[in-house]
Amino acid sequence: MAGLACAVQLHRAGRQVRIFEASDAVGGRVRTDKVDGFLLDHGFQVYLDRYPETGKLLDLEALDLKAFEPGALIYRDGRLHRLMDVFRRPASAWSSLTAPVGSLSDKLRVGLMRMKILNSSFEAIAAREDRSTEAYLRDCGFSESIIDRFFRSFYGGIFLERALRTSSRMFEFTFKLFGQGSATVPAQGMGQIPKQLAALLPDGSIQLNQAVHAVGIDSITLESGERIQGCATVVATDGSVAHALLPGLQASPPEWRSVTTLYFAADRSPIREAIICLNGSGAGTVNNVCVISDAAPSYAPPGQSLLSVSVLGLVEADGLVEQVRSELLEWFGPEASSWRHLRTDHTRRGLPEQLPNRSAPTSINQAGVWVCGDHLSSASIEGAVVSGKHTAAAILAARDSTKS
Ligand SMILES: Cc1cc2nc3c(=O)[nH]c(=O)nc-3n(C[C@H](O)[C@H](O)[C@H](O)COP(=O)(O)OP(=O)(O)OC[C@H]3O[C@@H](n4cnc5c(N)ncnc54)[C@H](O)[C@@H]3O)c2cc1C
Repeated sequence: MAGLACAVQLHRAGRQVRIFEASDAVGGRVRTDKVDGFLLDHGFQVYLDRYPETGKLLDLEALDLKAFEPGALIYRDGRLHRLMDVFRRPASAWSSLTAPVGSLSDKLRVGLMRMKILNSSFEAIAAREDRSTEAYLRDCGFSESIIDRFFRSFYGGIFLERALRTSSRMFEFTFKLFGQGSATVPAQGMGQIPKQLAALLPDGSIQLNQAVHAVGIDSITLESGERIQGCATVVATDGSVAHALLPGLQASPPEWRSVTTLYFAADRSPIREAIICLNGSGAGTVNNVCVISDAAPSYAPPGQSLLSVSVLGLVEADGLVEQVRSELLEWFGPEASSWRHLRTDHTRRGLPEQLPNRSAPTSINQAGVWVCGDHLSSASIEGAVVSGKHTAAAILAARDSTKS
């Protein structure tokens, strides 16, 4: 996403761009495969439809975004409890306020926090004191109960870590976007997002299956040995590859958050509702479950449903499918025994860790070579795009200043 965003901006400014992509498709971590008629994203991902900078590049209408409900069903004590954003779903106020997930004062605090964050600009959020999300929530006065039963699973699923070590600025940024808009998926899969950006570039600009071996200020060397000349080089890989290509890179190499995603096919949806289900039980391996086809029916063939199950961390143990199925039986009842396991995705490099008070710039020029990617910004599609756009702007500004 960072490389595509950078290339689109440079192309719009009249520059010729060439992208060399190591894998067999564009998108990096945002990809979708078709398996037995189901659309399987590489891990459960959503597009927040109020992403400010990505929204300016994409044709959101053409993506035909399908939204999830603003809220969650929380599994606890053997059943699912409803916790909605009551400002947007007032009809669910009673069930949300009485759900055994935090106290009544916790729920009032969520309202106060919502007001504070929604009334703050992104700039104000970026300038606020930074600490861990857990410390932030405790400072807001939330009880252990709501932190453990709701925030750890909801934001654990977003940050890919339940300890909530992630920066409170990232928490506020995400909370604001959830409050203003919706979590969505494009009707034809998350992979449509990078494909749409790639289609904005002239034919032949992108070469797939071309891993870059070495980079210099005005040239790169492919793994095949071929050398390509250019006016500027941008490394838009993930943070670890960027460090391998450019030893001594100013920013520190990322620690990675991993996730394991299991996909199941069902004859019918167990909830028939476009809403995320969270583990608030304090036990088990599953963090969150979602019937994606309830939001976007095109993710499954007619008459079938697609479930995505996220387990945080990289879990490669034998018996994971059986373990997850036994938990799904508790959550959804005996019908889970007939669900067909489609695939398990092990994503080692899911998100770069985003600890508080990180001070990396969104774009780096390392000895003449430009670097962008989510590791320099926020670990999200929006973060990657912001970094890519800033890099394009910096390249254009540097070219202009050499001319004058
Ligand atoms: C499971 C999961 C869930 C997520 N959920 C969300 C979500 O809900 N919402 C959200 O906004 N974000 C989410 N994200 C994060 C988001 O996907 C990433 O932050 C973003 O896509 C990163 O983009 P990038 O361009 O910085 O890096 P990448 O996507 O890693 O792209 C780097 C590219 O460089 C290529 N490359 C690597 N080495 C070479 C080489 N030597 N030569 C040539 N090419 C090379 C790679 O193949 C890849 O295409 C999620 C990520 C994961 C994995």
